[in-house]
Amino acid sequence: MRILIAGAGIAGMTLAALLERRGLDVKVIERASNFEHAGYMLGLWPLGYRVLHGLGLYEDFADLSIPANYYAVRDNHGELIHQWSMDPISSRFGPNLSCTRPQLVKLLHSALCETHVHFDTTLTNARQYEHHVEATMSDGTSEAFDLLVGADGAHSRVRELFFGEQPKFDTGWGGWVWWADRRSVPAKTYVEHWGIGRFLGAYPTTDGVGVFAGAPVGDRFEKDGSGRQERVRARMANMGELAHRLMQSMPDDETKLFFWRLNDVRSNEWTRGRVVLLGDAAASLLPTAGIGASMAMESAAVLADELGRTDVHYLEHALSLFVKRRRKRVEDVQSDSRRLARAMFIESPTLGRLRDLATRFYSLEGLAGSIAKAFDQPI
Ligand SMILES: Cc1cc2nc3c(=O)[nH]c(=O)nc-3n(C[C@H](O)[C@H](O)[C@H](O)COP(=O)(O)OP(=O)(O)OC[C@H]3O[C@@H](n4cnc5c(N)ncnc54)[C@H](O)[C@@H]3O)c2cc1C
Repeated sequence: MRILIAGAGIAGMTLAALLERRGLDVKVIERASNFEHAGYMLGLWPLGYRVLHGLGLYEDFADLSIPANYYAVRDNHGELIHQWSMDPISSRFGPNLSCTRPQLVKLLHSALCETHVHFDTTLTNARQYEHHVEATMSDGTSEAFDLLVGADGAHSRVRELFFGEQPKFDTGWGGWVWWADRRSVPAKTYVEHWGIGRFLGAYPTTDGVGVFAGAPVGDRFEKDGSGRQERVRARMANMGELAHRLMQSMPDDETKLFFWRLNDVRSNEWTRGRVVLLGDAAASLLPTAGIGASMAMESAAVLADELGRTDVHYLEHALSLFVKRRRKRVEDVQSDSRRLARAMFIESPTLGRLRDLATRFYSLEGLAGSIAKAFDQPI
């Protein structure tokens, strides 16, 4: 079986590593020039990183990441609303570990011996025939594959080519991402400010604290270049001492920063013939539950499992089993992420006050919803 994986992100690299172990012939193409792009922070639940045990990578992953022992939520002016211990979940299933995206992707890459990642290469076109997929790459080459895996993220080209426009959920918000000093927040703690018309989160990794400053788009908040730092600082003003420290670390207007539009996609179809979507390409996740990367890894493990139990003649059946095992679980978590977004991204002061009151009474499991349940459900 010859397999083309489009996208060397979390899902694509996890799948490549697992398939290589099974002796399958895999080619990976990646649009970026190296693994340093998209250098943001990632919090991972054991749901996803469990797969690293089987790849012999878990110890290295634990060394390069930081456990998040607490999750603290503050209000519009920086007052602590509630701080949850992660213990009810971590003591039973394992800690929530955070790292940077490049750290994780490079770790997965270190597991590959035979499989080559072709950087600076995208899929320009692909056509499906009865027994193969013909893929044309941006380097001008065309090749036949038994299976094409679209692991090319939220704006998937594979999804666009085979499934067209798919339903989206848009919060109307977006945010800037940058790095602050490790001492900016209490150790091993995720800190979020759930404001009114603003949101500020800080997530520690061994490379520093990843900061996310969000607000509704359309009020020049998302505008890049001159005046960016001043606008974002003005929006996050009077949010308390900790927020002030984080805002001081925002880079100047000349520095290239990543702006993340907070919307997601839920593809109606995940597979057709010999094409399958994986990770964010199938259903992308808002950051609110911090679960997208975990789901991408878990999905890759299930797809590898199904591909390891078939030969090329029954491939379509294996893909349909993969979708049956994954789709509901991923969509439940996606719905939770949307529900959390409705609570986190609020513009009305009255609703904000009600939310702050209610938040004090939530348990961690209640807040985590389907994620907490997923630990105990069969996949
Ligand atoms: C700022 C930020 C913070 C986040 N924080 C968290 C978190 O704390 N916890 C969590 O679980 N999730 C988090 N996420 C979400 C998480 O990153 C994604 O859910 C996860 O990366 C999905 O993995 P993926 O492999 O499907 O997609 P990606 O990791 O996005 O990988 C897709 C890859 O495909 C490549 N590509 C795209 N188009 C093409 C093409 N045409 N041809 C070839 N290659 C292509 C891209 O360059 C990329 O390398 C965060 C996301 C962002 C943006």
